[in-house]
Amino acid sequence: MELNLLTLCYLIASVTFILGLKMLSNPVSARRGNLVAAFGMTVAIFATIFLYEDNGEKLHNYVWIFGGLIIGTIAGTLAAKKVKMTAMPEMVSLFNGMGGACAALISAAEFYHIYELHKDSPATAFAELATVGHYITIVAGAIIGTISYTGSIIAWGKLNGRVKDYSFKGQHIVNMIVLVLVIVAAVWAYQSTLGNILVPFMLIGFFALIYGVLFVMPIGGADMPVVISLLNSFTGVAAACGGFLYDNKAMLTGGILVGAAGTLLTILMCKAMNRSLTNVLIGSFGGGNKTTAVEGAAGPQGNYKEISLADAAMVMAYANRVMIVPGYGLAVAQAQHTCHELEKILEEKGVEVQYAIHPVAGRMPGHMNVLLAEADVSYDKLLEMETANDVFKTTDVVLILGANDVVNPAAKNDAQSPIYGMPILEVEQAKTVIVNKRSMKPGYAGIENDLFFQPKTSMLFGDAKKVLQDLCTEIKAV
Ligand code: NDP
Repeated sequence: MELNLLTLCYLIASVTFILGLKMLSNPVSARRGNLVAAFGMTVAIFATIFLYEDNGEKLHNYVWIFGGLIIGTIAGTLAAKKVKMTAMPEMVSLFNGMGGACAALISAAEFYHIYELHKDSPATAFAELATVGHYITIVAGAIIGTISYTGSIIAWGKLNGRVKDYSFKGQHIVNMIVLVLVIVAAVWAYQSTLGNILVPFMLIGFFALIYGVLFVMPIGGADMPVVISLLNSFTGVAAACGGFLYDNKAMLTGGILVGAAGTLLTILMCKAMNRSLTNVLIGSFGGGNKTTAVEGAAGPQGNYKEISLADAAMVMAYANRVMIVPGYGLAVAQAQHTCHELEKILEEKGVEVQYAIHPVAGRMPGHMNVLLAEADVSYDKLLEMETANDVFKTTDVVLILGANDVVNPAAKNDAQSPIYGMPILEVEQAKTVIVNKRSMKPGYAGIENDLFFQPKTSMLFGDAKKVLQDLCTEIKAV
């Protein structure tokens, strides 16, 4: 009876994960989707704690379990409440790394479980105690989870600027060697007797830790979204391995969903960058025609012109169509609400306002969609890159708010540029381009942007929120 109840709870949890994921795909239902999936996860956790039985025995170490739950809940809640919206991508990366670490620990626990049961007969080979399938699941969870853990920690450091891109000549060969060493250690562990298995098993973790660091270290600049979504899928796959090991359907479904969603997102991000995954992973290691961000940064490229607030307000107020291009700077300034305000004021004046969304704008996949949804900007107004690129031709004014790399024409014109080949928002097709940022500093990829020096472009310097507030006042007065 209890087993059936447990299965039913896992079924409920799995259904809520699928529903939640579906609801997350639309900003209107996203919040509810998150709550629905969180409810399912709560059901799965408590069902496991109180209903799960191993050989007829229930879990008994409740002090440890609830101690961990309480500490985790407090730490997670405080972190989520205190985090600034701009630091959200870093936190997501960090949490992803924690998921990877958990999955790796589950594998290590299962390995240790088998070891503990039989350690009194040290001459027994591990291969006699676990089938190849079982062992591959244990070891895959340990390896993928560990790589996801260290990789995500490095990605977290890169997103908050603490870790710089680093690569050395021949790094891809070193990476391959480390990966081969992981596999060698895994085969060695499987064939070892219990008396000497701990060393090769430790080596699996050690080499996987190093591989995670080496694999993410060289990738930077505009390629980060691909790595982040790839690490996401790694965590999902590692969690699914844990689900297999414990025959836990909810964990299996959750892991597979995260793994599949992460893989699809990786494919989408690769498409958005117009790069193959191999090119992103191998292409960053020195060589090729890629330059590092610093090398790729050209010196000052000429003169730029500035526009006054009053003139910018006038140009927009008399336009038929204004396209807003949001970027990371809009998130930094937390100017999404003021941006929506500007949209409403312009529409009252009969101007059609839309938003052009680049898939890698901001610092996490879907960042701009989330940001604008938070300010209740209507979803119909958000145009995907391909559509926006068609609409620019008939747009009077493009207002770029804290975006840089995603509108950089070097992606089309400069074969030496690190972002060469990445599809961009072709804003220069519009009649007038107004760029709001605080200075002439480059964006995340660290490269100059020729757009700022083109005759159609005018710079409107200042913090996006302040500039938008002033624009609202000026436009009302026109
Ligand atoms: P960028 O990082 O290229 O540019 C952001 C611009 O915003 C900067 O040039 C900065 O200029 C300006 N800015 C910063 N603060 C403010 C402010 N308060 N007010 C006004 N402007 C401000 O952003 P994009 O969105 O164009 O491109 C995203 C980049 O991040 C891409 O290279 C992408 O590959 C990368 N990336 C994306 C991830 C994702 O998943 N979406 C993940 C990791 C990286 P200034 O300092 O002069 O104000």
